[in-house]
Amino acid sequence: MTARQIRAARGSTLRCKGWRQEAILRLLENNIENGERPEELIIYSATAKAARNWGCFDRIVSALRDLEEDETLVMQSGKPIGIFRTHRLAPRVIMANANLVGKWATADHFRELEEKGLIMVPGYTAAAWQYIGTQGILQGTYETFAAAARASFGGTLAGHWVLTGGLGGMGGAQPLAVTMNGGTVLAVEVDEQRIRRRIATGYCQRISFDLEEALTLCLEAKAAGQALSVGLVGNTAQVLPEIASRGLLPDIVTDQTSAHDTLYGYIPEGLSPAEAVSLRRADPETYKARALDSIARHMRALLTFQRRGAVAFEYGNNIRAMAKLRGVEDAFEVEGFIPKYIRPMFCEGRGPFRWIAVSGETNDIAAIDEVVLREFSGNRQVTDWIRTAHKHVVFQGLPARICWLAHGERGHLAGLVNDLVRRGVLAGPVAFTRDHLDCGGVARPYRETENLLDGSDAVADWPILNALLNASSMADLVAVHSGGAGSAGYYVSAGVTVVADGTEDSAMRLERTLTSDTGLGILRYADAGYEAARRTAKEKGIREISSV
Ligand code: NAD
Repeated sequence: MTARQIRAARGSTLRCKGWRQEAILRLLENNIENGERPEELIIYSATAKAARNWGCFDRIVSALRDLEEDETLVMQSGKPIGIFRTHRLAPRVIMANANLVGKWATADHFRELEEKGLIMVPGYTAAAWQYIGTQGILQGTYETFAAAARASFGGTLAGHWVLTGGLGGMGGAQPLAVTMNGGTVLAVEVDEQRIRRRIATGYCQRISFDLEEALTLCLEAKAAGQALSVGLVGNTAQVLPEIASRGLLPDIVTDQTSAHDTLYGYIPEGLSPAEAVSLRRADPETYKARALDSIARHMRALLTFQRRGAVAFEYGNNIRAMAKLRGVEDAFEVEGFIPKYIRPMFCEGRGPFRWIAVSGETNDIAAIDEVVLREFSGNRQVTDWIRTAHKHVVFQGLPARICWLAHGERGHLAGLVNDLVRRGVLAGPVAFTRDHLDCGGVARPYRETENLLDGSDAVADWPILNALLNASSMADLVAVHSGGAGSAGYYVSAGVTVVADGTEDSAMRLERTLTSDTGLGILRYADAGYEAARRTAKEKGIREISSV
């Protein structure tokens, strides 16, 4: 394996023939700088990559350096294919990653092609060079708990406690996301080292090895209205039923153990992490059977809490489907977090918008934070996040900020930032992008598009149209992905990046792209029958050709 260290270029020196190409190149480098296993070009989620292999990476870099301001680079599953003369206002990069034809879109066929080196796992932001480190997960989790607080607890989690499991790569954001919302959280994690890592990075406050002690700490903090996070070393399949049997009731219960994977993810009750590794190797079938038994017990405890009055939701880890496989027929009585909390935001075009200071200057992000606080001063959801992020978020790689802005707000902010770049107030251009988990970005029947009113959960036309429309709206980079070949099922997603380089052209490209992107997302939900989306379309002047 090639041992290479990639770090995103900073500063004002151009290596490419324009800032749009240079910004895209820096975002690619930034992805790898922030990656979990950069030596294999793996960015996150165990296998999601930024380029097919190092040969492809080198060819992408030289293609971006050669690319003229009226040319477009075409990428296929992490491999650069060709450069075409298009137009000054056309995208500089378009990409399609891991899209398979219907009947062949299976985990087995996907792996076969991957082994032959013909495609790669794209994730969402990994292959589209839009990953900005764990800030994205932190804010998504923060927004979910904030939405739960607004829906059930008058807008704050102060005086309430959350019971959850799993403090891994993504789940590790839960303790901080809860305390940022003022609440108390007890997170059950079987691997002591994972809890220690969260404490070392400031994501969790306390570790406990004793259920009694952990419960006392949490219930006292709840009674005092104090924010507190406790990681309890234990197994969710054992601890949750135990808490239920004591008649204790958390205010919110959810989970982020890797229940979607019964061999490498979920650890069966009664096994330490080391014993899990041994059994997995020695007898994978027994391992899987024991994991499913534990998941079923865990799920029954979640259902018990819900029936007794706790707010319960699945956090995208597929625990309901796995438990149902093991006979928990009513598992889907617990709702997914997207229909419960996030979809109403999608109906306003609100989602994980983000921007990256291409110059590498942290002051640029601080200056944009100020603009956001001023322009959206009446919007607590936005201002609370910016203030708390300013305090808690440590930048990784190029300085960046994520902020869930709605339709219209994104284009407005980007226009102001473009002006700051033009006037030289910022040290360099700023790239605007978003997660694919967004209103217009994805069709994924077990998560983002679960249980739509009209049953169109699996229709993938929408993200494809999103990509086509964003390319027509002059975005700088447009991507269409498929993936998720595991038990969580296939998805199709679209990604977009637009660079504010201070020019008149970029003002137009930002306004058109950011309006089209969320505008079509809102029409997707209006089309599926969501009144809130129809209302937004009407209020914001989105021209829906209504079927009703
Ligand atoms: P991870 O594998 O890094 O972490 C999972 C953690 O769970 C590990 O620390 C493991 O030790 C712990 N664990 C496993 N079995 C356990 C058990 N029985 N009891 C207690 N702890 C146990 O995974 P991750 O990246 O943190 O993601 C967690 C899950 O949440 C995944 O299924 C992921 O897909 C899902 N997720 C979904 C979304 C979304 O829908 N947007 C967002 C975040 C996470």
